Amino acid sequence: MATRPDRGRVEIGTDECKGCLLCTAVCPVHVLVRTKTLNKQGYFPVEYTGSGCTGCGFCFYACPEPGAITVFRLEKSA
Ligand code: SF4
Ligand code: SF4
Repeated sequence: MATRPDRGRVEIGTDECKGCLLCTAVCPVHVLVRTKTLNKQGYFPVEYTGSGCTGCGFCFYACPEPGAITVFRLEKSA
């Protein structure tokens, strides 16, 4: 079965994240998950599973920490 290419990608600023999980709650495709490794602030940050992001930006708008999430919308390939 053919799969559609991802429409977006997110980068998490691991040491900016406070592990509040607001982003995981709003992500409609559940591609953000909490890690099991403490960051420099002593929180368990989230990470991107690596595929499936739609680029919707919901996580960006939900996140209270500046710089913790960057969303990229990917161009459609020709
Ligand atoms: S941009 Fe949308 S789909 Fe991608 S991780 Fe954020 S909430 Fe999920
Ligand atoms: S909303 Fe921001 S601070 Fe909260 S877990 Fe997600 S990336 Fe981390």
